[in-house]
Amino acid sequence: MGSAASTASARPSVITSINPATGTPIGEVPEMTAAEVRAAVDLARAAQREWAQLSIEARCRKVLRFAEVLMERAEEMIDLLVREGGKTRLEALGMEVVVVADLVRYFAKHAPELLAPVPLPLHLLKHRASYLHFVPRGVIGIIAPWNFPFSIPIGETMMSLIAGNGVVLKPSEITPFVALKAKELYLAAELPPDLFQVVTGRGSTGAALIDSGVNKIVFTGSVATGRKVGAACGERLIPCTLELGGKAPAVVCADADLDRTAAAITWGGFANSGQVCASVERVYAVDSIHDALVERIVAHTKELRQGDASSSLSDVDVGAMTWDQQVSTVEKLVDAAVASGAKVETGGKRGTGPGQFFQPTVLTSCRQEMDVMRKEIFGPVIPIMRVTDEAEAVRLANDSHLGLLAYVFTRDRERGKRIAERIQAGTVMVNDVLATYGCPETPWGGVKDSGIGRTHSAIGLRDLCETRHVNHDRVALAREVWWYPYKEGTFRTILRGARLLFGKRFWQR
Ligand code: NDP
Repeated sequence: MGSAASTASARPSVITSINPATGTPIGEVPEMTAAEVRAAVDLARAAQREWAQLSIEARCRKVLRFAEVLMERAEEMIDLLVREGGKTRLEALGMEVVVVADLVRYFAKHAPELLAPVPLPLHLLKHRASYLHFVPRGVIGIIAPWNFPFSIPIGETMMSLIAGNGVVLKPSEITPFVALKAKELYLAAELPPDLFQVVTGRGSTGAALIDSGVNKIVFTGSVATGRKVGAACGERLIPCTLELGGKAPAVVCADADLDRTAAAITWGGFANSGQVCASVERVYAVDSIHDALVERIVAHTKELRQGDASSSLSDVDVGAMTWDQQVSTVEKLVDAAVASGAKVETGGKRGTGPGQFFQPTVLTSCRQEMDVMRKEIFGPVIPIMRVTDEAEAVRLANDSHLGLLAYVFTRDRERGKRIAERIQAGTVMVNDVLATYGCPETPWGGVKDSGIGRTHSAIGLRDLCETRHVNHDRVALAREVWWYPYKEGTFRTILRGARLLFGKRFWQR
């Protein structure tokens, strides 16, 4: 925990984190007050002043050490991700630890060039020149969800630090210990202790963070909370990046490679127990291949082994659901779909026993108006709908208020790209799912209600800075022609020049 936390006195309440696969408590963290949050921001700000003085190369070298420590102590982090998040060991490694280690390496290598000044050649005022330069914003407030409690906030933290900022992170109340472990590794990497702070608490602690003088908020979470965060940032005139919900459609064309498509959709629907903003949340399968696709997806699903990866050494494919209330949300959506005519091909029920499980579920005969096709499920459910052709699939894919990720399956790469460009989503992948979150060079973010702004990529890195513009002279002139005093002669000269430059070309007259 940040040093601000250790100086706090009265604790209004504590939050208990539990292992969702067993129901066993992991530990308690304090619900930090607004005053404690502000103190954490002040400490980060003081440390940031020194940090920003370092060259970007020096900052990159120091942050790189975090990736090294992370890899040395990877098992520790994986164990905690499994225990607190309910995920499988392979998911904790591949979707959390490796993503952050690779992101750190990528930006440590490329940030100096991505944040180098950008010349802007001027097409008209040739005697002057412009360039952009990128200045750290100060302290970035990061508010994070529970589904990827390490890769989302810590990836954003590392990018913010490389860009020269301090960071105050408010993790989800469901998964605070992962954030505290990240701080422990950060300290072991000998990075400036006060520069990165973790403030534990509930929604009110997140709201306090927005109100604590931070220079930008990077929020990941639900659309409903995103609206509140956006409004609060607007009130304070601080920029915010909003990474919100998704309802990723998979458009399966008649010529798709069905074996690959079924394997991709099965993984894309159930990885991390379906608690991924980019999960395959609805499948539009063209009539001619619908039955063969369903058969393959159902066969794959029936082979999946669900269980508690924290207590078992055996392989587990699908883990627990991180948040108990999410199990009820999933159950209601499935029950309502079945009541409206959807067919359960496999699964369909919550698990028995102490942990929070929902069986990997495949639904067919789904229709667009069902909630399961319209609302974010955020659980291990794949609803499938039969469509007549790809044009209908694209129309239905775009019939959503969300637009984060989307997927297209076809053997024809050019066709795949053409369809991808017609789908309203921040990212469309052809013949694959989920994977671009692990590509730090690509932007991550949505259109429509899925959010505002981008994380990752040059765009995300530059957004963590103020983009400032310098305009300077290239030749020394006594005065500019448009300065005082205004004269009739000047007016005529400028008008003649403007007609020459912007009017019809002489050969068109
Ligand atoms: P929430 O919106 O419930 O919470 C997100 C974070 O905001 C939590 O830390 C929460 O704290 C905090 N918070 C709650 N209320 C406020 C407030 N008024 N002001 C400031 N902060 C507040 O989302 P979930 O944690 O349930 O995450 C699931 C959602 O996240 C899904 O919709 C999913 O699609 C989306 N998501 C989007 C991603 C993307 O990249 N676009 C990636 C991953 C998830 P607390 O938990 O303590 O209440």
